[in-house]
Amino acid sequence: MKSESGQPAREVIKTVDDRGTLYIVATPIGNLEDLSPRAVKVLSEVAVIAAEDTRHSGRLLQHLGVNKPLLALHDHNERGRVQSILERLSEGSDVALISDAGTPLISDPGYVLVREARNEGIRVSPIPGPCALIAGLSAAGLPTDRFLFVGFLPAKRAGRRSVLEELRKDAATLVFYESPHRILDTVADIAEVLGPQREVVLGREITKTFETFYSGEAAEVLGELTGDPHGNRGEFVVMVRGAEKAGSGLMAGEVDVDRLLKLLMVEMPLKKAAKIASELTGLGKNELYQRALEFKDS
Ligand code: SAM
Repeated sequence: MKSESGQPAREVIKTVDDRGTLYIVATPIGNLEDLSPRAVKVLSEVAVIAAEDTRHSGRLLQHLGVNKPLLALHDHNERGRVQSILERLSEGSDVALISDAGTPLISDPGYVLVREARNEGIRVSPIPGPCALIAGLSAAGLPTDRFLFVGFLPAKRAGRRSVLEELRKDAATLVFYESPHRILDTVADIAEVLGPQREVVLGREITKTFETFYSGEAAEVLGELTGDPHGNRGEFVVMVRGAEKAGSGLMAGEVDVDRLLKLLMVEMPLKKAAKIASELTGLGKNELYQRALEFKDS
């Protein structure tokens, strides 16, 4: 068979797969109007819905008028439950996975199921929608070109501080989830470990009636939160500006390298100066040698 360009068309071999599809369905993080029409359609059409908390999700489904068998799938039974869900999929039934709020697998159960389903070659399809970390980032006014989602920090102070210590020099915007009863301690640790001037944005009760964004330097946000009688209520996304990079641009970097080269040249032969400067900066040895020669000639 030839394609329009005259080249032989790549033959696509389609295997017939009559197994079901596992749909990963995002549900609201507070505002029921955020449930997409496609999510409603999928939930109405699948044979079974796997849910983190069947009672909690039962209320959402009742609100939607969806009456489907619910299977509990939570952190404590996920491994055991996966097999029976895979069997349903293998028999040709479509299955939806939902969590209590937002996107499954994002600090929620489902990883083992999705992994195993993919290993078995079963089709896994996302039905995207609300996710607290993305909603928070989209409105925080912090850089989003590079961010690191850390999930929940350890509950104990020492563990929390050691994770923050590891992240202290990371240039990416940091995103955490936090529970209301630990929010003050966490912001206090951020101020201490990352510095009181580090920019912090807290997204509280996003999409809900009392949605609030607190932003400013870590110490200011801590003060604002402490002074707010509702400050430690509700759900929080904690976002922190990444660390400033040493030397903020190419020009500054070049100036530093030149200075380094000149200092080294006073102390040692050019070749050695170029070699050490190359090791320290990651720039090419030959390029630095040429530059050192230019300095010498001038
Ligand atoms: N899978 C969910 C998602 O897609 O965002 C997150 C589940 S995780 C168990 C729950 C945490 O998400 C909460 O403790 C809170 O940190 C954050 N969260 C969920 N809903 C939120 C909301 N409306 N406003 C702020 N944070 C929220």
